[in-house]
Amino acid sequence: MSLNISIQKTTHPKQKPDANNLGFGNIFTDHMFVMDYTEGKGWHDPRIIPYGSFEIEPSAMVFHYGQEMFEGMKAYKTPEGQVQLFRPMKNIRRANITNERICIPEIDENDMLQAIKAIVDVDKDWIPEAEGTSLYLRPFIIATDPFLGVRPSSTYKFFVICSPVGAYYKEGINPVRIYVEEEYVRAVRGGVGYAKTGGNYAASLKAQMKAKKGGFAQVLWLDGIHRKYVEEVGTMNVFFKINGEVITPSLEGSILPGVTRDSTIELLKSWGVKVTERKIDIQEVFDAAKAGILEEAFGTGTAAVISPIGELKWKDEDVVINNNEIGQLSQRVYDTITGIQTGKVDDTFGWAEEV
Ligand SMILES: *Cc1c(COP(=O)(O)O)cnc(C)c1O
Repeated sequence: MSLNISIQKTTHPKQKPDANNLGFGNIFTDHMFVMDYTEGKGWHDPRIIPYGSFEIEPSAMVFHYGQEMFEGMKAYKTPEGQVQLFRPMKNIRRANITNERICIPEIDENDMLQAIKAIVDVDKDWIPEAEGTSLYLRPFIIATDPFLGVRPSSTYKFFVICSPVGAYYKEGINPVRIYVEEEYVRAVRGGVGYAKTGGNYAASLKAQMKAKKGGFAQVLWLDGIHRKYVEEVGTMNVFFKINGEVITPSLEGSILPGVTRDSTIELLKSWGVKVTERKIDIQEVFDAAKAGILEEAFGTGTAAVISPIGELKWKDEDVVINNNEIGQLSQRVYDTITGIQTGKVDDTFGWAEEV
């Protein structure tokens, strides 16, 4: 069954920002998609209304126990003016995997796609066209029962808000300094590490602040049990190229299954690069660096696509990777993914989806 979405246009359209001076996530478009859930009734009242604040009781469960799901994806305009999404079904399926884990009722996949496409279509004039820019989409669900006991809520709200975002790299892709976090962990198997839910990010702030203080861009997370297997870098998946082979941690419950991660693996394989998903010991990474065979290291995620790691610190050891420059393979992955997203590179995988 498809949604019957009502549309109420704003009477006060905002001025669009200068596409050459966009930051990330601080400007919002004229409209938002909203849909409600009530137990017994299901998801109902899909609507597009002017973007703005709304009323909610302070007792709403999301404020107290964090029952929340979110996603992150982007819409792009091709040189011909066509609006497109990148592998949206991957995000939609992941949204329902998150929902399942934290007891939020799932949303029909086709309905969610329809909702996302509808809001992008209404606000398509907000998609910036300057090189490297896009419209960032944030679908999310919050628990809204006014209740202070711990149980799944019986009412929810699903939103999709949109934010025009700038080129992540203004002066070319700069490799970042990363340090290996030994005190705090991001997630453990059996927890919610594989789900995109707010609590994971609240739990990561302290380590992030510690990293900033030490002059690092982000932390490299280790597993919560042995404290030695690499998991992620900040809020990105992580890849190492060692002696010609690309290695990324296998998904075993504590790692977020990134769409960019999956696309990177597919691309590398199609180019004949050996890619292995397995546990990778931080000692192995440092041994490779010292032996001169750690050729590239990078994070992957929707926001930056590829973020090269230029320097890695662990305890009192500090290694520089690829002369603190972006590696050839990292650059090729970046160019290909962003090219497909913006319709400038042949979409041989069928990853772009027209709105
Ligand atoms: C969203 C996210 C990623 C990247 O996922 P993409 O689908 O590639 O954007 C990686 N790790 C964490 C913890 C994330 O929240």
